[in-house]
Amino acid sequence: MNDQPLHLLRSVFGYAQFRVPQAEVIATLMAGQDALVLMPTGGGKSLCFQIPAMARAGTGIVVSPLIALMQDQVAALTQAGVRAAFLNSTLSSIEAREIEQQLLRGELDLLYVAPERLMLERTLDLLARAKISLFAIDEAHCVSQWGHDFRPEYIQLSVLHQRFPEVPRIALTATADEPTRREIITRLGLENARVFISSFDRPNIRYRIAQGGERAREQLLHFIGEEHAGEAGIVYCLSRKRVDEVAAWLASKGLSALPYHAGLDSGVRTAHQSRFLKEEGVIMVATIAFGMGIDKPNVRFVAHLNLPKSVEAYYQETGRAGRDGLSADAWMIYGLQDVITLRQMLETSESDDAHKRVERHKLDAMLGLCELTTCRRQALLAYFGEILAEPCGNCDNCLTPPETWDASIPAQKALSCVHRTGQRFGVNYLIDVLQGKTDERIQRFGHDAITTFGIGRDLTAPEWRGIYRQLIARGLLAVDIEGHGALRLSDACRAVLRGEESLWLRRELKPTRIKKTKTARGAASPFTGERDQSLWEALRTLRRKLAEKQGVPPYVVFHDATLAEMVALRPQSLSEFAHISGVGERKLAAYGEEFVGAIRDHAAD
Ligand code: ADP
Ligand code: ZN
Repeated sequence: MNDQPLHLLRSVFGYAQFRVPQAEVIATLMAGQDALVLMPTGGGKSLCFQIPAMARAGTGIVVSPLIALMQDQVAALTQAGVRAAFLNSTLSSIEAREIEQQLLRGELDLLYVAPERLMLERTLDLLARAKISLFAIDEAHCVSQWGHDFRPEYIQLSVLHQRFPEVPRIALTATADEPTRREIITRLGLENARVFISSFDRPNIRYRIAQGGERAREQLLHFIGEEHAGEAGIVYCLSRKRVDEVAAWLASKGLSALPYHAGLDSGVRTAHQSRFLKEEGVIMVATIAFGMGIDKPNVRFVAHLNLPKSVEAYYQETGRAGRDGLSADAWMIYGLQDVITLRQMLETSESDDAHKRVERHKLDAMLGLCELTTCRRQALLAYFGEILAEPCGNCDNCLTPPETWDASIPAQKALSCVHRTGQRFGVNYLIDVLQGKTDERIQRFGHDAITTFGIGRDLTAPEWRGIYRQLIARGLLAVDIEGHGALRLSDACRAVLRGEESLWLRRELKPTRIKKTKTARGAASPFTGERDQSLWEALRTLRRKLAEKQGVPPYVVFHDATLAEMVALRPQSLSEFAHISGVGERKLAAYGEEFVGAIRDHAAD
């Protein structure tokens, strides 16, 4: 057998070429050196350790934090004919014993192990008696104590280096920031590792952020119906209550939507996660408890009904869309209330001042991204220190450039109204005063007699809300610490209030509806032609049938991209089928006949 990496890529995985920097990472491990790989989700990290594990003598040990993820990866490898297994708490002791024997007999290319199991003295002894080709530490950012995925067991992984100094190690993560990178290097003892940093751009994801208010749910339903009917997606909400409510509401509209949050029974959570992975077109409505290790490649959209707390969180959550490289949407709706709630949560939190300052800074950056009128991708990448020379052409601001208007005068009115009413009131009250409403409360406070009373009749209440939101988002107004939503002037507003500085704001439009167009990488579905569409459906059905029979998710049989290529090329024979990207030798033998048959039958209809 030919064990060259490129040969393995073609014969086992059915791909023609390595992506940058896969070949170099693999060469590093082949030479017995350590590597640290920072690559965005969907970049192709797995092959970086799978191929050298197969090409080198012995078994590659993969440390992976999530059991569901392990099972998926092992199922996918088995489908491709790779000798892979896992050791974790779901196995009986007899099953575990059998796998240990396979390891000792040198019958495994890859063994996935949960970190807490790996660190047991017993497991380390076992490894010492086996031949190990490499250690791969997946989701390596779990060593970072400051990140939200921190796993204490990960810290102990430096032991591997001490016990097995001659075995090369590779650590991988999709977390981009510099402090995390430094922490990975020091905690895992990777000072001598070659570091590979890829661009963190995800060109297939289309970023869209729109204003919304009470009708956010309807806007979401409309978005899914128009652009993602029957496709899988994730909807993020801030609270458990909202998750339950939105999931139930979407389900009542006939969508297969399921809730997921830490308040649900763990059995329910597992069942929902498994349906999301195994069925096509399930929408998971979730808090941020759902996410890490969601390996499903064909999540077609990630929707946010609330604002994430930071750009890092936004990038990570939206990054779960489109791992397969086909076009996907990151869609978000946010409004005035989000801005107020997040600002309040931050101010009233228990953390110390230094911590708060950092959090405030992060939230400001996130709000800045929302209110931006230029390319979102450029700003997003710039946040991670990456320069994108040209606007991307695949975000809402590039596709339908927002109008801006000189809002200096209305902003002065809005700010002045805060000042005149004593900085003690919330947005609704302020707008009532601006619009000259005479209710009992306004009269009682005598605010029907102040200079700002009734000076805002030229704009509608929603327009005023938009102005207040942007003033808060830009830090010209602050939200009170007591938590009643009262607004205060901040120092930053003086220049605008005095008319020394003009203020250009985004014109509030109806949420932009973007016509579904294919991106450069092509869309998975629906195909435009009726014939293509029906072949696509037929192949999906066949794939689902084959997957169900084996109890694995459909994408483990073939990815959407592979099916799409079958539709485009319509291979008529096994030798033509073998050329489809994603068809390796084992899958050709296992599925070739049936898929070629389905394509022929379809042509004959
Ligand atoms: P990551 O772990 O970085 O999120 P994966 O390893 O899951 O990414 O790879 C993402 C997708 O890209 C998978 O569908 C994988 O099969 C595909 N892929 C990886 N490398 C290649 C390649 N060289 N050619 C074609 N497809 C690839
Ligand atoms: Zn853009």
